[in-house]
Formats: sequence, structure tokens, C-alpha cells
Amino acid sequence: MPDTADVVVIGAGVVGCSVAYYLAREGVSVTLLERESIGSGASAHATGSLSLLGAEFSPGASFEMARVSYAEFPELVPELEAATGMDLLYQRRPSLRLALDDEEVDLIKSLMEWQQPHVKMRWIDAQEVRSIEPRLSPSIIGAMYEEESAQLDSYRFNLGLAGGAERKGAQILYREVTGLVTDGSTVSGVQTTSGDISCGAVVIAAGTWSRAFTPWLGFPVPVRPMKGERLLLNYPGEPLPVLISSPKRGHMISRLDGLTSVGSTGGRDYDQRDLFAGEEFDRQPTESARLELLQRAIDVFPDLERAELVQQLAGSRPLSPDSKPIIGPVPGWDGVLLATGHTTKGIHLGPITGRIIADYIGRGSTQAVADMSEFLPDRFADFADADYLTAARSVDE
Ligand SMILES: Cc1cc2nc3c(=O)[nH]c(=O)nc-3n(C[C@H](O)[C@H](O)[C@H](O)COP(=O)(O)OP(=O)(O)OC[C@H]3O[C@@H](n4cnc5c(N)ncnc54)[C@H](O)[C@@H]3O)c2cc1C
Repeated sequence: MPDTADVVVIGAGVVGCSVAYYLAREGVSVTLLERESIGSGASAHATGSLSLLGAEFSPGASFEMARVSYAEFPELVPELEAATGMDLLYQRRPSLRLALDDEEVDLIKSLMEWQQPHVKMRWIDAQEVRSIEPRLSPSIIGAMYEEESAQLDSYRFNLGLAGGAERKGAQILYREVTGLVTDGSTVSGVQTTSGDISCGAVVIAAGTWSRAFTPWLGFPVPVRPMKGERLLLNYPGEPLPVLISSPKRGHMISRLDGLTSVGSTGGRDYDQRDLFAGEEFDRQPTESARLELLQRAIDVFPDLERAELVQQLAGSRPLSPDSKPIIGPVPGWDGVLLATGHTTKGIHLGPITGRIIADYIGRGSTQAVADMSEFLPDRFADFADADYLTAARSVDE
């Protein structure tokens, strides 16, 4: 059993596996530690929507990060599929962002103002929406039509990254990290449930559980769980020709395996009162979410009344106080980096996170995103407490 590596990555969600993959691709020796199973956190439960359209991205570095990460997928997916023999169910199609009320019109149009120069999109009226998909509700006012958006199966993507990393030499060990091994301000290893592993650098990519590292680091890792649920349906009709979402009612996607995904709870939608309901790290599907999500989907696409429920998924997203990821070196420490807090966009932002961390470890800095200041951990140096509810309501789903 190896007890030393150049880099230890903690957590085998999409973020940790992306980091391990990009590091291994650069020839770095990596050990990835997971206490449960690959994708068992938020990642296997995610829709896998890769979209620039929501409220999560803001003008400037945030949008740049989203675009750069989106641009990784067309090469990364076939690379992982060739390495593992898996089909990641990756699809690139036009999308519709639907407005069913005036508030949604305003939300969509306010984002279009600054996104339009960067993304091929246009506002279309209700008649044009129905010419694209006549089965949609007559109460749709209009939509933003985007020429290309994408989606994949997030669990397969997670497994593909893990398998791809292993084929490039990374080790995956199923162990819980219980502490850090330190020498002054340098981290020289991690403590695990089956002994210590020494290393030159540690990357904390433990999703919403990354907060547990705060006392060990003496530096805030401000993430907390934001539960989300979604449904997979078997709909007997023809698949939808475009990827569909609405700011308040969530997404509706015909997947490449024939199932229809609808959801999700959490974020700016009808369920704000229940946003943090349940236990903090609760991953139990609930009846209230199931009924709510089915009703929302039928509001948009009435023929879904004929669909059968196949699976209900629930996961805890790592919500950060400003809903932006926390990526980069931890101030005051040599050899500790964070890769967490990706909130509702960890699947989309996994690849760019892997690239950024590989740059910091290999070169000491990154040019993957020109201005990293709004993502670096040091923005939380004086952190005391945050209004997580407001942060959660600023994102879509
Ligand atoms: C319903 C839903 C829909 C979503 N839809 C999308 C979407 O369409 N697009 C998108 O981009 N994002 C989406 N997301 C968000 C996305 O799932 C998250 O942002 C992303 O999965 C976070 O990945 P992660 O690797 O940081 O964390 P996780 O996937 O939670 O992984 C963290 C891992 O760390 C492990 N771990 C924790 N502590 C330790 C320890 N001490 N030692 C060892 N291992 C440890 C855990 O077991 C876990 O496997 C969605 C989320 C949900 C819930």
C-alpha cells in the first residue's frame, strides 16, 4: 500500500477527481482519498447541465471561468471515454430558457444584457417557442434561445474522471481523512483511518464536508450543505429536441439514455422555505420534493402527466457564502490548497478547477483564468459568519 505521494487529493467527487485527473495528466504522482464511494457526495446526484445561462455566473472572471470550463468538455469527454470505455451520455444541443411569468422575463432579459456579446442567444416569442416544441404549456410568454448548451451524466462523468486518473497513474484509496500531518506551517501528510500518508501537497476537495478542515487549518473553509433533489422519469412520448429550463421551475432534459430529468429543489424556486430543511448533510429523497418537482414539470410540459417515476435523487451541494468556488492556496500554509464551494456548478466547473490546481502545484500560479481574486481562499481571511440563505437564493438550481 503506498504511503507517500507528491499530492494527496481529499474527496472523490467530480471536483476531486478532476483535480486528480489533471494532475496525473501532467505526470504528478497523486493519491486520491475517498471515505465512502466515488460520487457519493453531491456529484452523482447532479443533473450534469453545462450551461452559461443561469444566475450563478457574473460578468468578468466568473463568466470567463464558466466559458473556459465549458470549452474543456468537447476534448475531455472523448479522452475519458477512450480511456475508460464508458459512454458519458454527453449531448450538445440548443436550449430554451422559458419565462412563464413577468418576473422570469425580467430575470432572463437582465442576464441577456451582459451575456449576449459572449453567447449566441436571442429572445424568441411564445409562437416561436411552440414552433420548436408544440407540447410546451400555452402559458409560456417567451424564451431565450441559445444555439448550444450541453449536458452529461454526472455520475458517469465522475467515474470517467476517476478511471481516467487511474489510467494515468493516480491511486484511489478508500479511506477517511481524519487530520493533517504538519511541520510548522508546512503540511507534510494526512492522517487517515488506516494510517498516515505523507505528501508534498494536499488538495481539500471534500465538497460540503470541507468545512471540517477549518479547525485543523485555523483558517475558514466556509461551505455548508444546500440540499437538492431531482427526478428521473420514463416518458413514453418523443424526446424533447432542446434542453429546457426556467429560472423558477428548473430544468427538463431528455437524456441520451432515454430518461427525462426534471428538477431541482434548492436555489431560486418555489421551495425557499424548505431550503435548509432536514438534517444538515441529509441525502434522503422526500415526498414533498417529489410532488413539487412533478407539479413544476407538468406546469411547463403538461404531457409529462403520462410519465412514470424511475428514480429520485438527493445530494448536498457545497454552498459557499458568495456562491462562488473557493480554489487555490490556503494563506499561512505551504502545500495546502482548497478546491470546494462550487455550489450549483461543480460539474460544469470541475475541469477548470482541475486545470487551475494543476497549475498552482506545477507552476505556482495559474493563467487559466486571468483574475483569480474572486475565487481565492484569502477572500475569507476575516470571515466570521455568512448569510447562507441569501447566497442560496442567488442561484438558480
Ligand atoms: C440535485 C442537484 C443537481 C445539480 N445539478 C448540477 C448541474 O446540472 N450542473 C452542475 O455543474 N452542478 C450541479 N449540481 C452541483 C454539483 O453536484 C456540485 O457542485 C458538485 O457535485 C460538487 O462536487 P465536489 O466534488 O466538490 O463534492 P462532492 O461530490 O460532494 O464530493 C465530495 C467527496 O468528498 C468525500 N469526503 C468528504 N470528507 C472526506 C474525508 N474526510 N475523507 C475522505 N473523503 C471525504 C465525500 O464522501 C464525497 O465523495 C447539482 C447538485 C444537486 C444536488
